Amino acid sequence: MIKTSKQKKSKPYLMGLKSQTKHHQALFPKIIPKKIHQISKADISKNAMKVVTHLKEMGFQAYIVGGGIRDLLLNMEPKDFDVATDARPEQIKRIFSNCRLIGRRFRLAHVYFYREIIEVATFRATREVGSNVPTQKGLIIRDNVFGNIDEDVVRRDFTINALYYDPDQEILLDFVNGYEDLKKKHMKIIGDAITRYQEDPVRMLRAIRFAAKLNFKIDAATKKPIPQLAEKLLSISSCRLYDEVLKLFYCGKAYQVFLLLCRYQLFEHLFPILKPYLHQKKTIELIETVLKSTDLRIQQQKPVIAAFLFAGLLWFPFLDFIAQSKSEELSSFYTFHSALNQTLRKASKTITLPNYVRKTIQDIWWLQDYLEHRFQNTVKRTMHKPHFRAAYDFLLYRAQCNKKLQPIAKWWKDFQKAGPDKYQKMIENLVQ
Ligand code: ATP
Ligand code: MG
Repeated sequence: MIKTSKQKKSKPYLMGLKSQTKHHQALFPKIIPKKIHQISKADISKNAMKVVTHLKEMGFQAYIVGGGIRDLLLNMEPKDFDVATDARPEQIKRIFSNCRLIGRRFRLAHVYFYREIIEVATFRATREVGSNVPTQKGLIIRDNVFGNIDEDVVRRDFTINALYYDPDQEILLDFVNGYEDLKKKHMKIIGDAITRYQEDPVRMLRAIRFAAKLNFKIDAATKKPIPQLAEKLLSISSCRLYDEVLKLFYCGKAYQVFLLLCRYQLFEHLFPILKPYLHQKKTIELIETVLKSTDLRIQQQKPVIAAFLFAGLLWFPFLDFIAQSKSEELSSFYTFHSALNQTLRKASKTITLPNYVRKTIQDIWWLQDYLEHRFQNTVKRTMHKPHFRAAYDFLLYRAQCNKKLQPIAKWWKDFQKAGPDKYQKMIENLVQ
């Protein structure tokens, strides 16, 4: 049974959290009514509401949780809405015909609607109860133990992500003081920070992402262990890190994310290849330019491509591999491919770049030479090469950091706009 905040005045949730040992002790939430939280049902995805309603009709508990609620409370547009329930994945699948179960580590249900996927997670239990034994490194590899709502709450990452919204009663259930933290713009991990990061080091990246995106302060105990645990990221699969890096750099505050990742020594573990370059002005300038432009494009709701981001991040290591390969007196084709492969192989040790991303990076980098040198017999063809636009944009960013490239960037800008007469003249005027 849920007790109201009036019934429980002495912060019972903290007492309960401290005593999460073998014998689970129930936690009781504060109840935050609509007149305080002011969430309007109209702002919640109709599909998420349908899922909650349907689960409840079938006799289960169901709440909207996570980023959707957090962002609504901050007057931001939620990226998605997640649902938490006591229904088991197989039960969810039976209830919704448009549902698929995903995930090996913890089974989740995805309920599909025309343009939206609602992620439905069954309440998880605390660690002690069963099969989710941490490995020697402290990492949880199996996590599929189901529990009650008050167990589920302590499995979540940050207090601001652990508010459960009940659309029927229009109340928020707050077990961990998340509402107050949110109002104070405070990021606080649930439970002991070291243990929680050891269980899942990606939580350190999530801390950085939310702090940057929401402009929140990370609580002292939440941030303190990050630098010393940063190398735990190496235990995370490189495919998962690729997804997380994209979330980090596409959150709309990529440059701020980069600064925080560097400050907490996480960046050098995500991109060990860049560690020797982090004190190099030209590298930092290019990364800053690319990340700030990504932020601007996201703000303007323009499309962004992952290859562009990685082409910028890895450009200077790639140029160094080119310089090394040149000394081997290979043809320019082999020099290029040798440097490309060495760069991408080294970067992929921590972050797996999908093949289509690698191919686009290759096209962007390959065209840089043609764009810079503007050979009379190739300029026309260059414009029709795959990913010319991305390569040209990349040249513009390089030119922002390198004055020598500015006249060349301007030439290409004029060339693309030029009519047939001017077009031919511009080619003839190129000095070979
Ligand atoms: P957004 O969707 O805006 O990126 P979010 O907080 O909703 O942010 P999701 O990845 O959608 O993030 O996860 C939904 C919820 O699941 C989170 O709010 C959090 O409560 C919980 N969660 C997600 N990942 C973890 C994790 N690694 N450890 C603990 N809890 C997590
Ligand atoms: Mg979410």
